[in-house]
Amino acid sequence: MPDRKSDVIVVGGGLAGCEAAWQLAERGVRVSLFEMRPFVSTPAHSTAQLAEVVCSNSFGGEGDTGAAGILKAELELGRSLVLDCARVTRVPAGGALAVDRNRFSELVSAHIESHPNVELVREEVTAVPDGPAIIATGPLTSSAMAKSLGELIGDGYLSFFDAVAPIVTRESIDMEKVYVAGRYGRGHDYINCPMNREEYSAFYKTLMTAERTVPHDFERGMFFGGDAYFEGCIPVEVMASRGVDTLRFGPMKPVGLPDPKTGREPYAVVQLRQDNREGTLYNLVGFQTGLKWGEQARLIRGIPGLENAEVVRFGVMHRNIYVNAPVVLDEYLRLKGRNDLFLAGQITGVEGYMESTAMGMVAGMNAARLFRGEVLEVWPRESAIGSLLNYLQNAAVDGKTFQPMNVNLGIFPPLEQNIKDKKQKAQILYTRALSVSRSRMPSP
Ligand SMILES: Cc1cc2nc3c(=O)[nH]c(=O)nc-3n(C[C@H](O)[C@H](O)[C@H](O)COP(=O)(O)OP(=O)(O)OC[C@H]3O[C@@H](n4cnc5c(N)ncnc54)[C@H](O)[C@@H]3O)c2cc1C
Repeated sequence: MPDRKSDVIVVGGGLAGCEAAWQLAERGVRVSLFEMRPFVSTPAHSTAQLAEVVCSNSFGGEGDTGAAGILKAELELGRSLVLDCARVTRVPAGGALAVDRNRFSELVSAHIESHPNVELVREEVTAVPDGPAIIATGPLTSSAMAKSLGELIGDGYLSFFDAVAPIVTRESIDMEKVYVAGRYGRGHDYINCPMNREEYSAFYKTLMTAERTVPHDFERGMFFGGDAYFEGCIPVEVMASRGVDTLRFGPMKPVGLPDPKTGREPYAVVQLRQDNREGTLYNLVGFQTGLKWGEQARLIRGIPGLENAEVVRFGVMHRNIYVNAPVVLDEYLRLKGRNDLFLAGQITGVEGYMESTAMGMVAGMNAARLFRGEVLEVWPRESAIGSLLNYLQNAAVDGKTFQPMNVNLGIFPPLEQNIKDKKQKAQILYTRALSVSRSRMPSP
């Protein structure tokens, strides 16, 4: 258990932990920031710097033409340290914000280390701290901390890997070509994309020839090692390679799903299941995949009814430690039952550099308010940050499955008018999000 020389302990000096520590320190709250590197490392980090960017050096798009831009504009309003350092160390990348990764991490480290309210402690925290704290230990949280957190929240509510199927927006599905039905007439919960023999054959060929991502060394064997435990989340391309008809007896089974247009069962079917409470997002059932994203797009657009599908989240298979947010977190990112303990970053169930940073900002601001005895404020729902928080609260439609999410237009509250043009829609959402954020974002 770390020594408490400060008001709030932040565990993990990644993107979220640095942002949280900064938000606290800037509000006059004294912080001890614990980072285990370089004494203990993760399989993906390779330096001793804070806020190390472990993979791509791109933080995504800027401006008013997409969800990533809306999120950045809100982070700017919140005076984000991470965003500020990213802009100072940017390298040319078209419309995206990409950074010189070494200069970026050095700059964040310098700001944190020189802040009079921050004490940086290079030590692994092996148990969830007592008293006011923020846990921001990321997708590769150390085993001891993962064990301690799992014991606190219940092991079933902590996941150790992502096996995610792609998600599309409902409005981009061609409802003329699909039908809504449950298997054997049970309910109307699924959108079914029917395929005839030729369509299935073309789909199978695309799937078998599509390029796959190469897993990191530490991920090898996780999904592909033949371990029975992971059989339930086997990638669709691996299942397909067992035989041409394997999918037709698995996730693409048409039995009990007659197409009302013909009265007969199709040759194969792709089922889509509602993914958020608002019913704006649908996932492809059983389609967890490690295919490259461009290949996923090509495959999905070959499915009848999904020719123009807007994919808001591609499938991934990778190591990722995160909590079942709808069950264990409140709307302020606190663990239910522990009013002084916040989670921040990717471990909350968001995915991506900027999303993790945003959850660091929220946890930092909320922890500061709590420390100062102020009332915690709910983030405006129309903002990108409010939409991510809403996803964390409400994503699991059936109360069990919860998959991490990145920021995308599909998680914003729907507009009253149905706007097909993505750019135009983003601009309207941008204006709405910024106007509510300016007036209702929790005050500093
Ligand atoms: C291999 C890999 C590749 C990725 N590629 C991308 C990408 O290209 N684009 C993208 O947007 N996102 C990517 N992500 C997701 C990315 O990690 C997150 O978006 C982001 O870094 C998460 O920020 P974080 O602060 O939550 O965690 P991190 O940035 O990982 O920070 C967590 C910190 O906590 C420290 N720590 C862990 N346990 C302890 C402990 N017990 N005590 C003290 N310190 C501890 C770690 O050393 C680390 O510094 C990738 C993730 C992985 C694992």
